[in-house]
Amino acid sequence: MKYQVDKNGFFGRFGGAYVPEILYKCVHDLQEAYLPIIESKEFQDEYYALLRDYVGRPSPLYYANRMSEKYGCKLYLKREDLNHTGAHKINNTVGQILMAKKMGKTRIIAETGAGQHGVATATVCALMNMKCEVFMGATDVERQHVNVERMKMLGATVHPVRTGNMTLSDACSEAIRDWCCHPEDTFYIVGSTMGPHPYPDIVAKMQSIISKEIKQQLEEKIGRDYPDYLIACVGGGSNAAGTIYHYIDDTRVKIVLAEAGGHGIDTDHTAATIHCGSEGILHGARTLVMQNEDGQIQEAFTISAGLDYPGIGPMHADLAEKGREKVLAINDDEAIRAGYELTRMEGIIPAIESAHAVAALSKLKFTPDDVVVLTVSGRGDKDIETYLNARS
Ligand SMILES: *Cc1c(COP(=O)(O)O)cnc(C)c1O
Repeated sequence: MKYQVDKNGFFGRFGGAYVPEILYKCVHDLQEAYLPIIESKEFQDEYYALLRDYVGRPSPLYYANRMSEKYGCKLYLKREDLNHTGAHKINNTVGQILMAKKMGKTRIIAETGAGQHGVATATVCALMNMKCEVFMGATDVERQHVNVERMKMLGATVHPVRTGNMTLSDACSEAIRDWCCHPEDTFYIVGSTMGPHPYPDIVAKMQSIISKEIKQQLEEKIGRDYPDYLIACVGGGSNAAGTIYHYIDDTRVKIVLAEAGGHGIDTDHTAATIHCGSEGILHGARTLVMQNEDGQIQEAFTISAGLDYPGIGPMHADLAEKGREKVLAINDDEAIRAGYELTRMEGIIPAIESAHAVAALSKLKFTPDDVVVLTVSGRGDKDIETYLNARS
């Protein structure tokens, strides 16, 4: 693959590792260790065995008949919603916990917003018998009570974070603070393609199984291994990175990402970082950030807790700027409508995050032969109340 992070962790102008001095050694050790570990036979054997037998991979590539007819294309859904714990996040936590073990770490920390990454982390910590501490904004602890209970049942300690807006961004800051206090024994499992180098690259590689499978599955189903369109939603950017990973250099494939517009990109209530953000440093990386003129982080707003992040992975900041990715802002009401549509037309209730990707379909013009692969990043069980409230 030609498109790669450079040795300092940059994708074009974006990325890098802007961390406090106390973390230099920790981050440097990880930068040195991650590629040899990922490329080792031992890691690959363990990782692929767990993806198959524990996560349930490969996830199906499903031809959506009725939706294809409606949108005038050949629509395939990549079913990450069928993974263990209900979303793509488990692909990444399985990989990172193996990495933590190889590096001799004994204590795991993670940040979480909606709680999906917290649950995926607590799950693999139970599996590997590791101590697990999850940082979660106090507002989210209240909003996402069921996921908090799941994490506790799995044996994790959940720390409500009461700084700032008490949401995901603050949980990330708190996790980094904790890491500074325990750099020796602690491994920080980052949940998306964000954070200091090498995390954006680690997470993209762990999620790249999605496009690896899409290639094989398309070859089997249509006799060619690439689609005309790839569509995914983007919060920090991990399911999108996994969906496009093996196609970034392949210009036959158009890439369309859906970010959360909230009430609209011309309002203060939005999480559309690529549309509304400006260059800055957030959680260890230079990227696009929603901020005011003084560089204060502006709270992100969207109906979707999993897309509620005022930054964006540096790889996507770069690919969007270069025009390789077309990024659409999907508003709350459009996502809700699309979520209901997929539910009623295909019998699949998508996560509200994934519904943003579904909503992108109506904004694109297809020809009947166009092969479109859309990643359903997660299932909507956690969002039933949101869907019902939005309709009442
Ligand atoms: C967390 C989450 C997202 C957003 O995260 P990315 O890193 O952008 O993929 C999207 N969909 C679901 C179901 C999630 O749980």
